[in-house]
Amino acid sequence: MQHVNEDLPTTYDSGTTELKNRTGRYTKTVGELEGLYRDTAAYAEWLETAGSDGEAYYVDEFRPSDAEGDLIHGLSVLHPGTVGREYVMTRGHLHAKSDRAEIYHCMSGHGLMLMETVAGQTHVVELRPGDIAYVPPHSIHRSVNVGDEDFVTLFTYPADSGQNYGIIADSRGMRHIAVVDAQNGWALEENPDYVVRD
Ligand code: ZN
Repeated sequence: MQHVNEDLPTTYDSGTTELKNRTGRYTKTVGELEGLYRDTAAYAEWLETAGSDGEAYYVDEFRPSDAEGDLIHGLSVLHPGTVGREYVMTRGHLHAKSDRAEIYHCMSGHGLMLMETVAGQTHVVELRPGDIAYVPPHSIHRSVNVGDEDFVTLFTYPADSGQNYGIIADSRGMRHIAVVDAQNGWALEENPDYVVRD
């Protein structure tokens, strides 16, 4: 962990889209997202264009501690684009302590908070600047960028939550995917690969 000066605020600079006084940055490259999108040819093309090290999204966080009762907060910055018919998205997760909730506040851009219960019930919140998405306990969640600029959200969640990524991989994605829709900009479609959890 970097040195943290707790006397300083964690500042969002809209010019550089980064969190000042952060304790860490997590970057996800295009090369690390293999298997996330259904259209493998479109993914290969993206990989070719952006390069394996091309940045798909990053998360700047301020993590005061991992203690129960503490709050991790920061910025998620998801670059725009489509892979085949699907809008770009984060890998998504369920909290390892699944009863831990989360808040996302949209700072800029246009996106979705796509949520799903373990039993497979989908819930989606569309976000524009100023909007807030509440992710209830026991919700699998991911961000989707349906706009044409960076989708930037400020998140906050209990510091002892942890992340479970396997739950999405094991069901071969979330139940719904967000695709390009000529009429409304975006639409949710059933993911044909989805495996119902027991
Ligand atoms: Zn989360």
